[in-house]
Amino acid sequence: MNIDTVCQTKDKNIADEWGALSVPIYQTATFAHKGLGESTGFDYTRMQNPTRQQLEYVVNKLEHGTETMAFASGMASITAVMELFSTGDHIIMDSDLYGGSVRLFSMIGKSREIDFCSGELYKGDYESLFTERTKAVYLETPTNPMMNVTDIEKLAKETKKRGVLLIVDNTFLSPYNQNPLDLGADIVIHSGTKFLGGHHDTIGGFVVVKDETLAEKLRYIYKTTGAGLSPFDSWLILRGIRTLSIRMERAQRNALEIARFLQTNKHVKRVIYPGLKEHPGHEIMKRQSRGFGAIITFEVDSKERVEKILKGTELVYFAESLGGTETLITYPITQTHADVPAEVLKRNNINDRVLRLSVGIEDSKDLINDLKNVLDCVL
Ligand SMILES: *Cc1c(COP(=O)(O)O)cnc(C)c1O
Repeated sequence: MNIDTVCQTKDKNIADEWGALSVPIYQTATFAHKGLGESTGFDYTRMQNPTRQQLEYVVNKLEHGTETMAFASGMASITAVMELFSTGDHIIMDSDLYGGSVRLFSMIGKSREIDFCSGELYKGDYESLFTERTKAVYLETPTNPMMNVTDIEKLAKETKKRGVLLIVDNTFLSPYNQNPLDLGADIVIHSGTKFLGGHHDTIGGFVVVKDETLAEKLRYIYKTTGAGLSPFDSWLILRGIRTLSIRMERAQRNALEIARFLQTNKHVKRVIYPGLKEHPGHEIMKRQSRGFGAIITFEVDSKERVEKILKGTELVYFAESLGGTETLITYPITQTHADVPAEVLKRNNINDRVLRLSVGIEDSKDLINDLKNVLDCVL
């Protein structure tokens, strides 16, 4: 079944006697039993809820998993996955990650004495990073915000050989563009807040796995720690997913046009978008992804220009987040990456002139005009 169709599929196990096409918001905490040992399959919303189950069904199909769990946020899903590890375990994390993940790993690294080490996984020379205690490798590709691309299949061969879990945060591309489980990853994470929800109106997260034992362990953590997504938010993300393919198509088409425009502007010093042929990860992405996403990182000529851009755009909003219908601009150094240590920022070339765009589905000419106005104005 084509992905455009998968976005519209329904879980046949969710009975609906009225034929509702939209699975209703089952706003209930609990479910009545007919008698001893007779459950409808739903007992208590922390464990299961029909609206959430429909959402998990669709995301599971989109990511080619065996089991998907929907969480109250992307960070809640990462936190649940981290419950798989304990004191003394060693985890290799990519050196360029979402700032919230870096903060979480630093927090649990200290409190639970899990040993996180970081490496530039996109470079491919990760062998020396593994130790006898290594239990997992954690990465995003392309990374946030530097758009480094790691060859997932190649890394998966290494982790499989060593019996180490490969965890991929697939938020930036969404399952529309990339399916890490098919490339050998063991766990896929999403912030459902971004492309899956797609409208900047709710927060959610997902964990998707293929292996049944791992699925069982994570389901147990899920129901025990209780960070499941609410019925209403499940419904919102379901609604978002119905248009995932057309939103992604438009957003990434716009992104390529905007990236090309930025390259021609004299106040822009660097444009990092993996859809550009000169991007070092372009060829790998052509192999492992179906599209290049809608996130562009670029560097302008001065901090004053940054201030002008953040204050001056009319259509592009200065706001944290990505993956929605409106175009957003963020300033990684004070927003998403505020908690990333200075030496890591320096190594990743994230300075006070770097901006990140999440391109939406507006008309690209209007967006380009909006950016042109602030880029070309006199400071
Ligand atoms: C936003 C984001 C997260 C965190 O998700 P929340 O839904 O905000 O908790 C994790 N990873 C990436 C790549 C993100 O962009």
